[in-house]
Amino acid sequence: MTQHTDVVVVGGGQSGLAAGYHLRRQGLDFVILDAEAAQGGSWQHMWDSLHLFSPAEHSSLPGRLMPAQAGETYPDAGHVVDYLTDYEKRYDLPVQHGTRVDAVRRNGERLLVEADSGTWRARAVISATGTWTRPFFPAVPGRGLFTGRHLHTVNYRSPADFADQHVIVVGGGNSGAQIAADLALDGNVNVTWVAQRPPRFLPNDIDGRALFDVATSRRRALDAGHTDTGGVASLGDIVAVPPVRAARDAGHLHAKPMFAQLSADGVRWDDGSQSDAEAIVWCTGFRPALAHLSPLNLRRARGHILTDGTRALGEPRLHLLGYGDWTGPASATLIGVGRPARDAAHEIAGSL
Ligand code: FAD
Repeated sequence: MTQHTDVVVVGGGQSGLAAGYHLRRQGLDFVILDAEAAQGGSWQHMWDSLHLFSPAEHSSLPGRLMPAQAGETYPDAGHVVDYLTDYEKRYDLPVQHGTRVDAVRRNGERLLVEADSGTWRARAVISATGTWTRPFFPAVPGRGLFTGRHLHTVNYRSPADFADQHVIVVGGGNSGAQIAADLALDGNVNVTWVAQRPPRFLPNDIDGRALFDVATSRRRALDAGHTDTGGVASLGDIVAVPPVRAARDAGHLHAKPMFAQLSADGVRWDDGSQSDAEAIVWCTGFRPALAHLSPLNLRRARGHILTDGTRALGEPRLHLLGYGDWTGPASATLIGVGRPARDAAHEIAGSL
């Protein structure tokens, strides 16, 4: 049976919930369809020791401050799941968990949203499916040869899974640094960290708060037509969260340049030498999960759908939310998604 609504939001993580908050304020009828059986989007799958890079009050969705976590300046992922669960209930957001959307199609004046549990006819769609379900692995020579364990950030849990093993962590960003630090600080794992470029740590006093403040002033400057200062990119890439700082200061975080190729037992370096390893953890990023939008045949650039703000060029009834800066500055962060969510809901309300 086909159901009718003003707006279907695809994805019920933080971005889908922020969209729901603002759609409700606009008085629109909507449903949020989320593939996960439980609340919390990708936060329920993060590794055990992960903590946010900002304090709770700087990690909040619109309308409700995240409460502080007892004993922690930087809350852990479980705390974020609790917050999102509470947020969903508090605002009585109509989330249908366990519902995967397979396709969004044009159907005259409406968009047809086809899910595994039914079909919706909607006047607009907000896609908020994140990136977690599309881990990216770079093409590396010999990839198929390695007989050990290949993991991605999405599969990593804790050092206990690698006791007495040699693990190679690939990737010079935040996930790579944090996972290398987690393994190194455990003391029972032999870790080699590799990165394509020498990793650049941000100064100790710059955490997610400062990053967000700089991103906000940069956006204001650009909006006012002033010169682009380049934000914080010139300062570094890796937030020195406490475990990263501890591992770095203990001398554990010296990244080696990328290896030349994989072999059956490990990796070969540029000088021809070999390092055996039991596991490789690829902290090499994500791509946006956009397969459900394929029937719309929208123009893409670098794997992204072209947008003006959050609205898709080529399909004005479709908005994209939360994937990265291309759908709004800091849109893929807890505190940053509120503004683009509000803009999307305003635009949709104005167009209906
Ligand atoms: P998700 O949380 O991935 O939610 C998307 C939802 O859509 C999921 O429930 C998924 O199952 C569902 N879905 C996907 N496809 C479909 C489909 N076809 N049909 C129906 N449902 C679907 N941000 C911060 O603000 N602070 C931090 O400290 C921070 N640390 C981070 C650390 C790591 C390691 C990572 C990876 C990210 C971090 N982020 C942080 C960034 C950001 O907050 C997260 O990436 C965030 O989870 C994105 O939220 P989302 O709702 O857009 O996507």
